[in-house]
Amino acid sequence: LRLSTIAKARAPSTMLKRTMSSNVPTTKLFINGEFVESQTTEWIDVHNPATQELVTRVPKATPQELQEAAASAQSAFKEWRRTSVLTRQRKMLDLQHAVRHNMDKLAASIVTEQGKVFSDAQGDVLRGLQVVENMTGITDHLLGTKLEVSRDMDTYTVREPLGVVAGICPFNFPAMIPLWMFPVAMATGNTVLLKPSERDPGATMILAKLCEEIGIPKGVLNIVHGAHDTVNFLTSDERIKAVSFVGGDNAGRYIYERCAAHNKRCQANLGAKNHAIIMPDANKEHALNAISGAAFGAAGQRCMALSVAVFVGETAEWIPEIAERAKQLSINGGFEKGADLGPMITPAALQRAEGLIQSAADEGATLVLDGRGVKVAGYPKGNFLGPTIIDNTKTSMASYQQEIFGPVLSCIRVDTMDEALEIVNSNRYGNGGSIFTRSGATARKFQSEVEVGQIGINVPIPVPLPMFSFTGNKASFLGDTNFYGKSGVNFFTQYKTITSLWRKEDADDRRSAVHMPTLH
Ligand code: NAD
Repeated sequence: LRLSTIAKARAPSTMLKRTMSSNVPTTKLFINGEFVESQTTEWIDVHNPATQELVTRVPKATPQELQEAAASAQSAFKEWRRTSVLTRQRKMLDLQHAVRHNMDKLAASIVTEQGKVFSDAQGDVLRGLQVVENMTGITDHLLGTKLEVSRDMDTYTVREPLGVVAGICPFNFPAMIPLWMFPVAMATGNTVLLKPSERDPGATMILAKLCEEIGIPKGVLNIVHGAHDTVNFLTSDERIKAVSFVGGDNAGRYIYERCAAHNKRCQANLGAKNHAIIMPDANKEHALNAISGAAFGAAGQRCMALSVAVFVGETAEWIPEIAERAKQLSINGGFEKGADLGPMITPAALQRAEGLIQSAADEGATLVLDGRGVKVAGYPKGNFLGPTIIDNTKTSMASYQQEIFGPVLSCIRVDTMDEALEIVNSNRYGNGGSIFTRSGATARKFQSEVEVGQIGINVPIPVPLPMFSFTGNKASFLGDTNFYGKSGVNFFTQYKTITSLWRKEDADDRRSAVHMPTLH
């Protein structure tokens, strides 16, 4: 796919429609079922990370536009909450069909704005689509419980939607993460204000267009853009009952605290530092391929990337072989055939990662492979960082303490599994972690003792499918109700518990019962 094809593939909402004052395409707001040009004077430029070409300008929505979006969602809620669950199930079936048939268009938008390679961008869409597929079973997810608690008396539960809810997304999965949020919210009967990342809103706009085409009623899904001010609105407006957030620690903590202060539910998936432990009895080829793929794929810009490898005993001798594998990876524009990893999101993100690599060298680590300054033919301006391997990492180093979020693998050498576990468990994050071993007993010990929420046993990126939930813990998560699956349904619903008595008239009914009913 060449760039000209991609431009044609973009959603109408972000197409090359000219504004009076500028020749640059703009991203629209989606409010009350209409794609509208923002009246703002403040715009955020989105550049293709491989070329620096200006792709679109994203508005910082005005206060009035945010008010309109919230009013539209609140008004739509009155009807949407009353639709039959079968109607919402049907909409999920239609949405899954529409997303599947627009997979490549969505993936092309992701490559253009986010930079990941095309096949990986398809994976981004597919992992989100799986959430929609899971929501086609919303009838089962919403089943309540019932018990005859006494003679002629039943207690039963129903789950009801919360009202208007909001989603705030990061840049690194432009399709998957919005799809973790709005289909679950809508299937459970809520209406939504969604803020995609201001760095790559294109995939969300295509998804909004698909929702329009399948007849999601006006106002059920609204897309608002912006940065800090938009987030402040979403976390304080009293019509919004819950906020789903995925992103970095600073924004996440801020949003979680604001939600608490404004009486909103919040689920917040934050940063990560995921470790792999390599045991001497591991299947070496499998382990090295898995670690290399999970450390460098998507240019390391995945919250479940394996960014630290802890080598136990003689396995440290395998480090040069990971470097050999890393050197085979093709760094290229995401549409190029055979590309394995694309650019990082922005020049600033690249610069930050390069600085952390330098800090590791300055603090005494060994750069086994240094991807800084990599040249990519045809893409002289891209934000490229080649795979980088830092050996002899110490946990006190800045490159270990901070999430680099680039194609950088930090290697730590230890003598025993217990030392390895101590390192993993001392890390503040708890998103994911993997072990590579042929021993069931070792794997079982790891599973029991490791303090992270998503565990891979000979599996490098154990992101659970949506019949489960995404269960990062420790500093990687704030809240208590996880994303998607049963937990996601719980997040977007509240219980009503009803106790009813249906009895033919009875002599006892003539007397007042003043004691606490015990139902015996
Ligand atoms: P980010 O925190 O910069 O941005 C996320 C969202 O928060 C954006 O919509 C942005 O507009 C908003 N935001 C950013 N700074 C803000 C501020 N100061 N005040 C209010 N709002 C603000 O994150 P990012 O760089 O887009 O994404 C990368 C981060 O997301 C990494 O830390 C990664 O680990 C994390 N992430 C976590 C998961 C997970 O499931 N745990 C998944 C994907 C990404």
